[in-house]
Amino acid sequence: MTAVPTPKPWIAGIDAYVPGKAAGDDGRLVAKLSANENSLGCSPLALAARAEAEHPSRYPDGDSTALRAALGTHYGIDPARIIMGAGSGELLYLAASAYAGLGDEVLFSQYSFSLYDIVARRCGATPVEAPANDYANDVDALLAKVTPRTRVVLVANPNNPTGTYLPRGEIARLHARLPGDVLLVLDQAYAEYVAPEDDDGSLELAAAQPNVFVTRTFSKAYGLAGERVGWGTGPVELVEVLNRLRGAFNVANTAQAAALAALGDQGFVEQSRRHNAEIRRRFAAAIAALGNHGLRMVPSEANFVLVVFEGALSGEAAYQALTQAGYMTRWLPGQGLGHTLRITIGTAEQMDTVAAILRMAAEAAK
Ligand SMILES: *Cc1c(COP(=O)(O)O)cnc(C)c1O
Repeated sequence: MTAVPTPKPWIAGIDAYVPGKAAGDDGRLVAKLSANENSLGCSPLALAARAEAEHPSRYPDGDSTALRAALGTHYGIDPARIIMGAGSGELLYLAASAYAGLGDEVLFSQYSFSLYDIVARRCGATPVEAPANDYANDVDALLAKVTPRTRVVLVANPNNPTGTYLPRGEIARLHARLPGDVLLVLDQAYAEYVAPEDDDGSLELAAAQPNVFVTRTFSKAYGLAGERVGWGTGPVELVEVLNRLRGAFNVANTAQAAALAALGDQGFVEQSRRHNAEIRRRFAAAIAALGNHGLRMVPSEANFVLVVFEGALSGEAAYQALTQAGYMTRWLPGQGLGHTLRITIGTAEQMDTVAAILRMAAEAAK
């Protein structure tokens, strides 16, 4: 027998990330409502900038200098406190691997982003889940799970896949009660969808506290998921640590160009937020009207909603009815959410059709 390379045992414990499906098994697709992409696309300025980006034979600027400067100006942050990632997912990995390893614990909530389990395991740490409260992150439950081995706490706000949102006071309370040597990562992938007056104060915490790192992305409200651009901000020391770990040229030429132009088109972001809020409200009313069939919607601040099926129509049957009609949604039985469906907010027409299909399926299931 010849020896073969053996992956580390903690790597063997990882289930690979499963993205939202782009089409049904028969290849049929009317609407992809499974990956929380922006139904309005992206800013036309971003498309134009992408087409004119640096030639692909050239390496990108490894420090994403112009983009970090523009983010700094827009948000009032010293660019030295900003790090770019190939999507914010990369930054979540980097933050965990810099501060947690074998024997340590990475804490997050039940029903939170499925990537967190991989993020924890990839660096050898033990993932620890705190129970959710009616699908929402629960600050007291998280605090109760903190041990001397806790090194990193991951909180998505708004949370994916539930859409729930912790108000500013709860984020502040969580931070205030965490030991100073625990890194609090506030994942704000959907922050641009939250009304400005409901801001959770994460960026202020990241600016003032030595143990807070905030991640944001161009994948959701900016509509640039395919370009892979995310950013994070926190103490300059932390940013310097993560800069040592990241890929040297982690954000491509087209990605930097598109993100820079997209940041400059806040009108598009505002249009996306308003469009989403309006259609989400309309869809919520349609689901509320199906309450007698055991359907309910978890309150959402994001560009998707979690519908809970507690009547004759099961989450799986609803998923299949929608898939057969070409509407791809996200069914997550592996996360203990088999009785729910996560549905990205699409166009008004798409969401009206989704609601109509759910109504027909619910009536047939009686
Ligand atoms: C979509 C999403 C991200 C963003 O991933 P990118 O790598 O930036 O595309 C991060 N966190 C959560 C909770 C998400 O849903």
